[in-house]
Amino acid sequence: MTWKFSTKAIHAGQEPEEVTGSVNVPIFQTSTYAQQGIGNHKGWDYSRSINPTRTALEVCIAELEGGTSGFAFASGMSAIDAVMRLLNPGDHVVAGDDMYGGSFRLFDKVIRRYGMEFTYVDFTEADNIQAALRENTRMIYAETPTNPMMKLCDLQAIGGIARDTNAVLVVDNTFMSPYLQQPLDLGASIVLHSSTKYIGGHSDLIGGLVVTNNDEVAESIAFHQNSCGAVPGPFDCSLTLRSLKTLPVRMDRHCSNAMKIAEYLSDNHELKTVNYPGLASFPQYELAKKQMGGFGGIISADLGSYKRAAAFCESVKLFLFAESLGGVESLLCHPVSMTHGSVPPKVRQRLGITDGLVRFSVGIEDVEDLIADIDSALEAVRAVETSEAVA
Ligand SMILES: *Cc1c(COP(=O)(O)O)cnc(C)c1O
Repeated sequence: MTWKFSTKAIHAGQEPEEVTGSVNVPIFQTSTYAQQGIGNHKGWDYSRSINPTRTALEVCIAELEGGTSGFAFASGMSAIDAVMRLLNPGDHVVAGDDMYGGSFRLFDKVIRRYGMEFTYVDFTEADNIQAALRENTRMIYAETPTNPMMKLCDLQAIGGIARDTNAVLVVDNTFMSPYLQQPLDLGASIVLHSSTKYIGGHSDLIGGLVVTNNDEVAESIAFHQNSCGAVPGPFDCSLTLRSLKTLPVRMDRHCSNAMKIAEYLSDNHELKTVNYPGLASFPQYELAKKQMGGFGGIISADLGSYKRAAAFCESVKLFLFAESLGGVESLLCHPVSMTHGSVPPKVRQRLGITDGLVRFSVGIEDVEDLIADIDSALEAVRAVETSEAVA
């Protein structure tokens, strides 16, 4: 197919339905399919193995990531779990040292128990990965940008390392979506998503997706998807398909809103640092321009202390104070007390995840309303300090 991204997002895998011409893929709410006779069916036998609504989603996401096979899962974590089942006991993985906490927990508390070994290094320098390689390294597992510090890794450089070592490069592309970053083009063999975030985009579902361009990998993922069975139901697949249609317009708006807010925040003296890859002051700005089609909707910023961050989080009105990200509505979170509570203080300090750090998931509301909300919350932060000074 030679369609461009936005056309694929609406049409790939989604021909009008044969019986009625329904322009949307129906929700095939069925567990099983009547068969014609022994060993004779229409290609559909049981919905854990195959379901037409899910197939449409899998074809669409594969097209959007530029891969050959796509797989849908019940959550981002079950997608990652299916990918880890490519490994055998004794295999070694090099992974980033500030991954999504749930991924670290899965690797450290679950997968490791089955005999796989992990080394965690800072992925901002590809040399660190090279140095961590072992004879038994079979996988390199990357996230870019990272949460919440927005650190990037050079996918092309890491893709080269993976190729030279005969390891698969896996990229969690959740923060960017396929619209803003295409890891398979840069040397990854597997890209995965928590579709709960930007792909779902409306904070109303939990889901995961995996795409590969390697037939052997695809065969294994398909086998484990069916054998372990963490598949999404047809209704969630339908919601996700519907969301994909607007992914490009949503991401454009997330990016432009976030850029304006990042500029507003970095002009403000209340904040110690602002982390957003689209700012010229961002340490990896050149890499961001090279490998990302846009800078995304996530910003983190340091308000200087726990007290100031708490006052800020309690004072925003339009930004909802909640975990998760990537929805049309703007969210704010305090990583130390929420998503990164289980990360040891020493590690948090090294990564820059301070008590004063807040993370914005910038939605697609009117940006002037969002800035006004931040502005009045910053005023509340100042008021807390003034009242303390008087007391
Ligand atoms: C949320 C998230 C996950 C886990 O996905 P779930 O859908 O919550 O299971 C994995 N990776 C990243 C980067 C995430 O943000």
